[in-house]
Amino acid sequence: RWPERAPREGRSRLVVLAGPTAVGKGTVAAHVKANYPQIHLSVSATTRAPRPGEVEGEHYYFVDDAEFDRLIAEGELLEWAVVHNKNRYGTPRAPIERVLAEGGTALLEIDLQGARQVRAADPSATLVFLLPPSWDELVQRLVGRGTEDAEERARRLRTARVELAAQNEFDYRVVNENVASAAAEVVALAAAQQ
Ligand code: 5GP
Repeated sequence: RWPERAPREGRSRLVVLAGPTAVGKGTVAAHVKANYPQIHLSVSATTRAPRPGEVEGEHYYFVDDAEFDRLIAEGELLEWAVVHNKNRYGTPRAPIERVLAEGGTALLEIDLQGARQVRAADPSATLVFLLPPSWDELVQRLVGRGTEDAEERARRLRTARVELAAQNEFDYRVVNENVASAAAEVVALAAAQQ
């Protein structure tokens, strides 16, 4: 059982979904995108190579190091981070500002470092932490999806331990027992902000 904590009040509709590796953030975010068109899911830029089936501009904007440097230099990223000590990932600023200016809700599926940067840039941002039902479940999910080799899995589990320890920095916590209900909870939290 994860300890309980009280939600904070009065957040904005800039919603960050973070949580440890393999908890299912990407799956929950994709479920939100497919089922709740009123929520704008941010598309990140990354220097990581595309995985099979990933589509440019839909899953990520795949860029090289020089282009990522340019995005940083031009101030085009709301936040960015090196994730798992490897590739760089960042949130394009302009689409988020546009959505918020129109009164909409923007959802960012990013890592802990990114969540902290968003909080620093906008203290009213709503931070949601997605939890696995248990640590064992998290390990099983990472092994089960089979997209990383043993070395990469070990790296991601180290990151996950650090990320789990930071859950109290978040406004809300959602346990991902089931993708549809976790997505519905995230959407309800977003809708509850002013
Ligand atoms: P993956 O390589 O599996 O797609 O993503 C690896 C990690 O990068 C995930 O934890 C994901 O949340 C994080 N990530 C994806 N996009 C961004 C971003 O724009 N900014 C930050 N800080 N992290 C991101």
